[in-house]
Amino acid sequence: MITYLASGNGKRQQLMQQLIPTAKAAIKTKVTEPRIVVGLSSCLAGHAVRYNGGHSQSRLCLNTLSDHFQFEIFCPEVAAGFGTPRPVMRLIGDPKNPVLTYSDNQQQNLTEKLVNAFNKPLETMGRLDGYILMKNSPSCGLERIKIYQANGSPHVQRGRGLFAAALKQKYSLMPIEEEGHLHDIRLYENFILRVYAHHRFRYEVATDPTLHKLIDFHSSYKYVLMAHDQGYYRSLGAMLAAAKSVPLEQLLEDYFQAFMTALAKPANAKNHSNVLQHILGYLKQGVSSSARQSIDEVIHRYRQGEVPLIVPLTLLKHYIEQEGTEYIRMQYYLQPYPDDLGLANRI
Ligand code: SF4
Repeated sequence: MITYLASGNGKRQQLMQQLIPTAKAAIKTKVTEPRIVVGLSSCLAGHAVRYNGGHSQSRLCLNTLSDHFQFEIFCPEVAAGFGTPRPVMRLIGDPKNPVLTYSDNQQQNLTEKLVNAFNKPLETMGRLDGYILMKNSPSCGLERIKIYQANGSPHVQRGRGLFAAALKQKYSLMPIEEEGHLHDIRLYENFILRVYAHHRFRYEVATDPTLHKLIDFHSSYKYVLMAHDQGYYRSLGAMLAAAKSVPLEQLLEDYFQAFMTALAKPANAKNHSNVLQHILGYLKQGVSSSARQSIDEVIHRYRQGEVPLIVPLTLLKHYIEQEGTEYIRMQYYLQPYPDDLGLANRI
């Protein structure tokens, strides 16, 4: 099974194919970047494809995220021809290598039928920048899926649905989340931030890669990285400092792996406060000391949990628009995703 960051020439070539969009869709500027494409379990899109003939329509996906993402909808069980409605299915056997069967007929091994149905679509999913899956499904569930023993009781160890496991293995750096988790604001914010970062890396760097573009990209994500993981921020900087001794393809691969891993750790209020203070340091000239003092107090109130992130961020953005240098204005930290998602209002 191939992942984004598998080593070896053949595998690296496949990695590059996944990272680099087709020439037709390729663009070079932030302004004209194409719509972000995200995979979505069909039942979450409101399609009546569940085993019982119903759906699990997600208002978050359909009413909010659909303004920003183009969803690519897929139901592995329908693709496999199991029909709707269909008997309930479950995973049985070895938790490391479970088998899909009907709950009331465990003699029938349905694994191959399902895997054959999703393998081909899976090959095309390298163009996605994220995936939102339905929970509790032996096909789509990302975690805590029951795997039953021969005696009918579930193993203590839980697993993944078969499609979710294959998706995660093949595209290990793609942001993949269960829809249920997106109702937790920190996980939701982190997922959205990673989808945008994944997309930008592909379109700003991997489309037509040069070291210069990678350094520009890293510079524009400097404060996002600092807010998420200072250690990764430093090691990515060191990686770029030694860039000339590493083939570009290898560098891109190593960078992207470390970058996406760093962002997977949600930023906390302490790190956000440190970053806000750093940015405030850029406003020494042109902004009065009393204004800076007020911003400093608001940052402190954010760190104490008294105001959301949007408050110090908006203040800083106001002054940066007037007095900020080009370098600070280009920081994605100030707008890692569209403001109208309202995420900074809640963290
Ligand atoms: S959870 Fe997955 S397999 Fe089940 S109905 Fe939804 S899309 Fe289809």
